[in-house]
Amino acid sequence: MSQGPQLPLPFHSVAASRYREIEALADYPPVKLAAIFADVGFHCDCCARCCTRKFNGHVLLLDEDATWIRSCEPEALEPVPLPDFCDQHGTYYASGYTIRALRDPEGSCHFLKDRRCRIYEKRPAVCRVYPHMLHQEPDEGGSVDWRQISGLDQHGAYHCPISGEEALRLAIETKSFEEAVLAREIAYLEYTGQYFLEHGLRHVRKRYDDGLQRSQQGAEIEVMVYFRGSFERWVIKAGTAIERGIPADERKEKV
Ligand code: SF4
Ligand code: SF4
Repeated sequence: MSQGPQLPLPFHSVAASRYREIEALADYPPVKLAAIFADVGFHCDCCARCCTRKFNGHVLLLDEDATWIRSCEPEALEPVPLPDFCDQHGTYYASGYTIRALRDPEGSCHFLKDRRCRIYEKRPAVCRVYPHMLHQEPDEGGSVDWRQISGLDQHGAYHCPISGEEALRLAIETKSFEEAVLAREIAYLEYTGQYFLEHGLRHVRKRYDDGLQRSQQGAEIEVMVYFRGSFERWVIKAGTAIERGIPADERKEKV
C-alpha cells in the first residue's frame, strides 16, 4: 500500500503510523498466527460480556457492517463515541459508526437479547473474529509487540482443541479483518486531511475539549461521520442524535 498525498498535521503523522502498521501486518504469516490460535485454544463460553460496553467498549464497524445494519435497523447505528478531530468552527469528525448501546447498566449491544445476538448469522466482522486479533500494542512495561487475543485470561476457556484447518481459517479471517480496519482508517485520515486542506480548516484541540464538555452539559454538536468515502452529518445533544446521517452532498444542497 503506498502513501497518498501529503496531508496537513495531525493527519499526516497518524496516517504514516497506520501505513507502518499495515505493512507490518502484511508481513505477518497466517500460519504463525494459526499456530498461536491453536496453542491458546480459546473457547467461548457464551457469557455475552463482550457484547457490552462495560467489558468491551464500542463495536467497531466496517462499512459493509454499517450498511447492512442501516438497511435492517437504522436506529441501531450511531457515530463512534469519541470523534478524532474538531475544526476551528467547532465541527467534529469521527471515523465511522458503531452499534448503539441499550440503556442498561452494562451498556449491552442493541442486538443483544437474553444474552444472545439477534443478528448472529449476520453479525459484524469484529464479532465474528473476537477475541482473536492481530495488533501491535505496548505491554505494561511499554515494549511494543503483537497481541493475538483480546482480554486474554479474562473470559472464556483456554487450551481447548482447535484443528489446524480451523486455526488457519480463523487466522486468515482475523488478519483480513485487521487489514480492512487499517485500510479504512487510512482512507478516513486521507479524506479528512484533504477536506481540511480544501476548506481551510485546522484541528483545534481547545475547541475539541470545550465542545465535548459543553455537549455533555446538553449543547448540540455537529459531527461529520466518515462512511463509504465521504461524510454524513449528525447533530448530537447530550449523547443523543437529534439529526442523523445526512450525507455531506445533501447538506450542501440544503445550505
Ligand atoms: S452484534 Fe451481536 S455479537 Fe456483536 S456485539 Fe452485538 S450482540 Fe454481540
Ligand atoms: S467471547 Fe468471551 S466475553 Fe464473549 S461471550 Fe465468549 S467467553 Fe464471553
